[in-house]
Amino acid sequence: MPKLSVIGAGTMGTGIAQVAATAGWDVVINDTNNDILEKSSASLVKVMNRLVEKEKIDQATADKILGRIDFTEDQQYFENSDLVIEAIVENLEIKQKVFKAVEEIVREDTIIASNTSSLSLASIGASLKDPSRFVGIHFFNPAPLMPLVEIIPAVQTAEETTQQAKDWVDSWKKLTVLAKDTPGFIVNRVARPFYGESLRMYEEGIADFATIDWAMKELGGFRMGPFELMDFIGNDINYTVTETVFASFFYDPRYKPSFTQKRMSEAGFLGRKSGRGYYDYA
Ligand code: NAD
Repeated sequence: MPKLSVIGAGTMGTGIAQVAATAGWDVVINDTNNDILEKSSASLVKVMNRLVEKEKIDQATADKILGRIDFTEDQQYFENSDLVIEAIVENLEIKQKVFKAVEEIVREDTIIASNTSSLSLASIGASLKDPSRFVGIHFFNPAPLMPLVEIIPAVQTAEETTQQAKDWVDSWKKLTVLAKDTPGFIVNRVARPFYGESLRMYEEGIADFATIDWAMKELGGFRMGPFELMDFIGNDINYTVTETVFASFFYDPRYKPSFTQKRMSEAGFLGRKSGRGYYDYA
């Protein structure tokens, strides 16, 4: 089985590691923060216990999956990876710095990928000496449950890289779709007005957010309303993605971010992960 390294042990990195380990891959998760590595490990144990309780998997399988995942602050462990997926903070300069360092460690044939939601793959790939082995692999949250994964070649990406990335992610029992390297790719671009218009309606006093959520679920057939979804994703992440998409579309007002969301993010009302967002989770 090929080997995966995941950079960033947050929400997405932990979920991606679970997906690959469940498919039989050995996985190394790396983070600069040891507390987050411990949290990631504990959350994976919790998820496995829940799956055993619900009789989705047996204890032996859960132990095998957990046994395939190692946690480390040391990126030297990447040297044997066939694939590296980065899932760190959504910031171009930080990602570029990380990729430069990773390229020094991994083999020449290792495929290097980013889980970015909104940054240009061409600009991230430009930090690599060999950007032909670089591709976007964009999972949705929660990665173990959401079937879709966007595969996004940058202009520099070799065809074999895209195909190999697609084949591997398909083998993890995900549904892959090829998307172009444009802001928001497919799903996040369609989703921007879903959040943006909901926030504008709320700001204009047309309805409060609970009513908008209720209407979208009860009348629109959505599983979650826009405000519930923003709390789920994290208002900081969602705001940053909107800001990036807005700038990337040369400030097209259709994608204009909202002050309501900016203030929520600045106040630390990030949603579920901070215990408070549009709703209270304490
Ligand atoms: P998160 O904040 O939960 O996790 C990011 C982790 O990266 C943190 O644990 C942080 O300590 C770690 N980190 C930061 N710099 C690092 C470095 N130099 N080396 C190693 N680790 C480092 O973020 P997230 O929600 O998991 O998002 C990660 C990426 O995935 C972002 O690019 C985001 O846009 C994308 N994404 C997020 C979602 C979502 O719904 N949250 C969905 C799809 C894609």
